[in-house]
Amino acid sequence: MATVAINLATGTFQQEEIIVGIDLGTTNSLVAYVHPDSRQPLAINDQGRGSIVPSVVHFPTDGADPLVGNDAREFLLTDPQRTVYSVKRLLGKSYRDLGSHADQLGYKIIDDNSEGLVKIRVDDRFYSPIELSADILRELRARAEHALKTPVNRAVITVPAYFNDSQRQATRDAGRLAGLEVLRIVNEPTAAALAYGIGLDPSDEKTVAVYDLGGGTFDISILRIQQGIFEVLSTHGDTYLGGDDLDRVVAEHWTSAFQLPATFHSDPHLQQQLRLAAEMAKKYLSQHDDFTTHLTVEAGQNISVTLTRLQFDDLIRPLVERTIAACRQALTDSTLAATDLDAVLLVGGSTRVPLVYDSVSEFFGQPANKSLNPDEVVALGAAIQADILAGNRRDVLLLDVTPLTLGIETLGGLLDPIIPRNSKIPTKAGRQYTTSVDGQVNLKIAVYQGERDQVSQNRKLGEFVLTGIPAMPAGLPKVDVNFLLNADGILQVEAVELRSNTRQQVEIKPQYGLTDEQVEQMLMDSLVNAKEDVAARLLIEARTAAEQLLYQVGNFTRKNQQHLTEEELTATEAQVAKVRSALTGTDRDPILKAMDELDELTRPYAERVMNISIQQAMAGKKIS
Ligand code: ADP
Ligand code: MG
Repeated sequence: MATVAINLATGTFQQEEIIVGIDLGTTNSLVAYVHPDSRQPLAINDQGRGSIVPSVVHFPTDGADPLVGNDAREFLLTDPQRTVYSVKRLLGKSYRDLGSHADQLGYKIIDDNSEGLVKIRVDDRFYSPIELSADILRELRARAEHALKTPVNRAVITVPAYFNDSQRQATRDAGRLAGLEVLRIVNEPTAAALAYGIGLDPSDEKTVAVYDLGGGTFDISILRIQQGIFEVLSTHGDTYLGGDDLDRVVAEHWTSAFQLPATFHSDPHLQQQLRLAAEMAKKYLSQHDDFTTHLTVEAGQNISVTLTRLQFDDLIRPLVERTIAACRQALTDSTLAATDLDAVLLVGGSTRVPLVYDSVSEFFGQPANKSLNPDEVVALGAAIQADILAGNRRDVLLLDVTPLTLGIETLGGLLDPIIPRNSKIPTKAGRQYTTSVDGQVNLKIAVYQGERDQVSQNRKLGEFVLTGIPAMPAGLPKVDVNFLLNADGILQVEAVELRSNTRQQVEIKPQYGLTDEQVEQMLMDSLVNAKEDVAARLLIEARTAAEQLLYQVGNFTRKNQQHLTEEELTATEAQVAKVRSALTGTDRDPILKAMDELDELTRPYAERVMNISIQQAMAGKKIS
């Protein structure tokens, strides 16, 4: 039975719950959704507080629940040790990854001198970046629930294109901790492109640059969008360059130009005042040519400071030029020219600075697109992605990468990968196999999913038997195994014996019954066990090769007994026994050694028999 709910906020019947899109930013975070009636993506602005939630968490001294957003931001300078910002920089990182940057934060990062993930210390409690990110996500979720008057349990969350597996995993975990089922982690530039409507039509073929200058980070990504597949051709940037640096150069300029008292460095309230005034100047100058304000030194004593657009441009030019250098690098890495780009999209609050807009447009040789609100564009794109996943846009093809490797079992129970993990789907790949035993007429094709070398440690998706292979000596049949993974994640496996054109086909649903957690667990296991896997694989390969050699030698001696002396037969038997005995152990080296010896011993016999056969053939006789 389908449940139908009436949503009081939107005034509509709601068949499906709303899935929100979340931009979990370094400086600011936002949540957005697609309105069920207008089908437009909208940023959620709960209680007129604006859509932007500063990514700041403050722990009150009285031990009350943490404050998140603007309320927490107030404490950045007055209570820095209990106020955590830029936590996104710490996600999925170890203390070692952070290096000297750990000292630059106002709060305490724990150094346990390990490879383990970092923790943040507030009073006597330790918090992981995942927990802190979950606090931010919880706030966003609460705002969405309040504004939409409906429970929100599922979300799409964006991450920078350069985030690695562990950072993506950490983001997913943060979502789960905040009570959200994270349906997908989407690259920020991909979300931005979606918000601009690029890629929504499967026939779209576009190459775009996404220039994202936020509060503390800069990244540039070149994307190719084709048949609904978003491919990151290159990405570059500077994780320590953003709007905060623009504020800093303004504050430094004022400090020297207006000879501000030294208390502006020592007193947190004055520091705060200076920083906020600098940010205000920066924002004001995005629309005006002159800025003036007063800084209050102490009661009744004011200093007037000014800044013109031209002065500001001069101050920030070196910073903007650094972003352009990164753009040049990204373009080079993508092996494209600026003229190959269909669009340049602007993302991040700092792209409102006119010098940024002008510099980017000039570098790429076309006016950058800034028609969408640069603060909201990533969240809006995430909302569109969420809407697609909710099944509300059936015109849009659902495209993804396959999270785990798909392959088949080969001799010795090893996985032979056919479609590697992270391949874009739809995709097609194949490989040729043969039989291992003379006269083999059936070939079992067992399909597995996972990253481990041994099939027993991966997940079996299914198996089938290719029958009717004409009897031939081992190694002669040519069996093509083809995998076709379609856009819905459904795998079709086909096996064809090329000499006889015998074929067989099955359809397999790889995702079926596999939860995200299981996928993640399998990936984790493969990382943890990588070393042992290699050893186990080598042993299995040696065993398989030994079995094959024994099979061949057995065949050979049986067929050519008449050409071998009694001693040769005894020596061969003895060496075969040695190989068999080595096979009972779990050491690879004795197996290889015994095989080598058997090979050495029998090679001259084989050569002799070959010569005899050739002579017989020349004499017009039939070879046995
Ligand atoms: P992030 O993605 O890193 O969380 P945002 O995209 O929200 O960051 O960008 C925040 C930055 O944008 C801040 O440094 C803020 O001062 C800056 N910003 C916001 N509005 C403007 C504006 N009108 N002019 C210049 N900078 C702005
Ligand atoms: Mg951002």
